[in-house]
Amino acid sequence: MVNSVMFPGGARVPALGMGTWALGDSAERRTQEIASLRLGLDLGLRVVDTAEMYGAGRSERLVGEAIAGRRDEVFLVTKVLPSNASRAGVAASCRASLRRLGTDRIDLYLLHWRGAVPLGETIGAFERLKREGLIGAWGVSNFDVGDLDDLARVASPDPCAANQILYSLDYRGVEFDLLEADRRRSIVTMAYSPLGQGGDLLHQPVLERIADRHETSLGPATPAQVALAWVLRQPGMLAIPKAGSPQHQRENVAATELVLTSEDLAAIDRSIPPPRRKVPLAMI
Ligand code: NDP
Repeated sequence: MVNSVMFPGGARVPALGMGTWALGDSAERRTQEIASLRLGLDLGLRVVDTAEMYGAGRSERLVGEAIAGRRDEVFLVTKVLPSNASRAGVAASCRASLRRLGTDRIDLYLLHWRGAVPLGETIGAFERLKREGLIGAWGVSNFDVGDLDDLARVASPDPCAANQILYSLDYRGVEFDLLEADRRRSIVTMAYSPLGQGGDLLHQPVLERIADRHETSLGPATPAQVALAWVLRQPGMLAIPKAGSPQHQRENVAATELVLTSEDLAAIDRSIPPPRRKVPLAMI
């Protein structure tokens, strides 16, 4: 059963969402990518994460196609680039994203990472979009503890709803302080690249050993499912793996059935130790 996560505004969503970076980049894969997102919705997922940056709009267009006729089933997240984060830039970017997504509202609009535009100006622009009904909530991405402190000094009627950050077994540094800093402010942490982008992480012997001890309704567990279940073990965490095929989407949903034992978690800690000191937030 997928846990749920509540945003400060009261919206509740399943803790497993769907990433879409690089979706739409290949004509050959397009049909299965759309099928993957639709299957995710069929299986009860709600959060779809995209960005104006991904494929220069191709990801948003593909998402628009995948969710056509099903908008109400989706909690739609997209992001504005820091280079577009001025008052006028945010307004223009949001409208362009809405057009590509084929919808009249974005549920959560994020600043993709911090740039040169003062935070107060960007947040002011987000608040305006909210008053106009174009977005439901706003948040940030790639913000470390100091950035959150700076953000807290910006007066705003609505709280920051989310901080989307790199969190996986490859990048545990945020466990030292950032996860707690988000929680303290009731900011939902969204874990991006939770599968280590499908790279070496999925061949870690410790994950293979743990996978051998577990099953899901689909059969023997896989290292990817263990990696995902490990991220999702954090209370209040929303993970957004990208599955480019229905098979991977199904496996990711089944990963929510896994309950890692204290023995599993201890084995992981021995192989990939948690941080003992501050590690600056990494970004992909
Ligand atoms: P992920 O960690 O989600 O890894 C995606 C890779 O894992 C793909 O190669 C995918 O292959 C593979 N994969 C997916 N499911 C499985 C499975 N069950 N078993 C084995 N392999 C699997 O990396 P992403 O970088 O895509 O991160 C997820 C999302 O986070 C992005 O898509 C994006 O939405 C967001 N993001 C946000 C960033 C930010 O700055 N805010 C930065 C980076 C990502 P296949 O495609 O074949 O399914």
